[in-house]
Amino acid sequence: MCLFCEIAKKNIPSTCVYEDETVFVFNDIAPKADVHMLVIPKEHIGSMAEVTAENSAVVAHCFEVIAKLMKEKGIADDGFRVISNCGEKAGQTVFHLHFHVLAGNGMTEAHV
Ligand code: AMP
Ligand code: ZN
Repeated sequence: MCLFCEIAKKNIPSTCVYEDETVFVFNDIAPKADVHMLVIPKEHIGSMAEVTAENSAVVAHCFEVIAKLMKEKGIADDGFRVISNCGEKAGQTVFHLHFHVLAGNGMTEAHV
């Protein structure tokens, strides 16, 4: 069972922010900043390490959705951060590709 597949199928409840045919966006259950959303492809991709020529259009669409949502919510001008932890050493705990989108108070100093 994959937690984020179940969330995308609405078998497990979440606070859905946006949804279309390929992407599902919901609020992180343990927010690290004022805004902390998770953007996931509905298709199961384990992590950034599993992105290929065959599935990368879905990843591109995730980024289109992020830009659209940040503009719509008036966050784009202030600034936001997108993070994807890939693998245990990078802190990945849910092995379904997801992009953390953080904004507002709580964003820690950039790591890079
Ligand atoms: P990562 O550690 O990068 O794999 O991120 C996983 C994220 O999923 C963490 O920030 C968790 O707080 C979040 N998370 C875990 N379970 C849920 C859930 N049921 N609903 C929303 N967010 C969740
Ligand atoms: Zn999954």
